[in-house]
Amino acid sequence: MNIELFIEETKKLGINLTQKQLDQLEKYYNLLIDWNKKINLTRITEKEDVYLKHFYDSLTLIKVIDLNKELSLCDIGTGAGFPGIVLKIAFPNLKITLVDSLNKRIIFLNEVIKELDLKNIEAVHARAEDYAKENREKYDIVTSRAVANLRVLSELAMPMVKVDGYFIPMKANVDAEINEAKDIINKLSGKLEHKETFNLPIEESLRNILLIKKINKTNQIYPRRMDKIK
Ligand code: SAM
Repeated sequence: MNIELFIEETKKLGINLTQKQLDQLEKYYNLLIDWNKKINLTRITEKEDVYLKHFYDSLTLIKVIDLNKELSLCDIGTGAGFPGIVLKIAFPNLKITLVDSLNKRIIFLNEVIKELDLKNIEAVHARAEDYAKENREKYDIVTSRAVANLRVLSELAMPMVKVDGYFIPMKANVDAEINEAKDIINKLSGKLEHKETFNLPIEESLRNILLIKKINKTNQIYPRRMDKIK
């Protein structure tokens, strides 16, 4: 996806990026490629692929929720910053926490935050199951792309969501995982409100974004230890 098409497609999502935001994305791309030579951040390195499969894909979260508000958002297993950093660039109004268990990636994310002069964003080195215990009912939105299966991920994410907030996992195939996770989502006080299914432009690969509402406080027994969850 070249820059012109990226601008056109993001407009279709209702996002009008300014020149400053486009420059920030370009700088982010350059840092990603540069650091990727030293630490493992992504297998996708061609510019047009990064703009489609990382940048555009991250922004598709807007398909299920209005992000033009002052919301707190936690991105679990953010890796090189997807979707969290891209969302911060496009929606500077969001207050974002990026969580990853690999410290090298946190060091990279802190460099991106500094170089792009991003505010109201922090990168935390932690395992989600530990972070969730200390940050209960704290975020309006908890999201996560390509981290664990829905059953495991729900138990890590739901305790962190405020009552009336949303857990919004971004997935490729999800139908089998929904069946397997139904029970635990219910026990965690979640309710699956919507499943947005679409294809990425150009290469047409399948995407699903789930909107899971937290309807009540999550029982303190969750999240359990990872061996129990599994
Ligand atoms: N979300 C990014 C993306 O879509 O490109 C990264 C996905 S990568 C496949 C999974 C990431 O989750 C890795 O960066 C890994 O370190 C992190 N991770 C895996 N298990 C985790 C856990 N229990 N707590 C926090 N991070 C975790």
